[in-house]
Amino acid sequence: MKRPLIVGNWKMNGTSAEAVKLTRHVRDGVKALRSVEIALAPPFTALNAVASITGGRRIHLVAQNVHWEDKGAFTGEISARMLKEIGCQLVIVGHSERRHLFHETDRWVAWKIRATLNSGLLPILCVGETLAERQRGRARQVITRQLRAALKGIRESAIDKLTVAYEPVWAIGTGQHATPVQVAQAHRWIRDALKELLGRFKTGEIRILYGGSVRPDNSSEIAGVAEVDGLLIGGASLKADDFLRIIGDFEQSKSRQRRRK
Ligand code: PEP
Repeated sequence: MKRPLIVGNWKMNGTSAEAVKLTRHVRDGVKALRSVEIALAPPFTALNAVASITGGRRIHLVAQNVHWEDKGAFTGEISARMLKEIGCQLVIVGHSERRHLFHETDRWVAWKIRATLNSGLLPILCVGETLAERQRGRARQVITRQLRAALKGIRESAIDKLTVAYEPVWAIGTGQHATPVQVAQAHRWIRDALKELLGRFKTGEIRILYGGSVRPDNSSEIAGVAEVDGLLIGGASLKADDFLRIIGDFEQSKSRQRRRK
């Protein structure tokens, strides 16, 4: 059974001291959680500080990016081996801010997915269309292209290590989240593409998260979409109370869905 996963992506926010405070607050707030997994993606400089509090048990440690090589002359980059050494378990790959602000290509994303899996870390592959692509009716094509490129040649044994996040670019950090209908539809496109690319029986366990302006006032609506297996949260994960409220609402909504089944 897929356990829902909720990831807080702090982006380039917070010193180590601030990260410690926020992590303690989150850790204390999720003690009673049973059915949802929680993960935090602090800036690289705060990974160690966060790891010292979470111990990697109740809260998974996530890196926001990775380089595809193990080592070498790549100034400013961090390898999967280095992330593993400090206790990371997951890595966000292909976030739209990386794709659009730092011009990461589908090819780089594929190399990063491979490096992440080869090192024993678990990738969270982000896909999603821009507003212009959606308005031109090309959302499905874009998402499918991103998935196909990123997962080309991935080993069968690695399929269940993968998480996908649907993050429409127009919803990230804008305050304008996708509607439940749009979310359900995009998640079905992703599930169909995964089946086509990787095989019907192996892909059922891949979690598909939604990300894009999830806030306490809309999280129940999004959690209510049966196709959503978790959330990737940026801005709202920087406020512990908001993040905890979203987690609580999500858990309740999913347990209601399970009871109805
Ligand atoms: C993100 O950074 O992945 C994200 C979804 O950001 P926000 O929640 O702020 O839209």
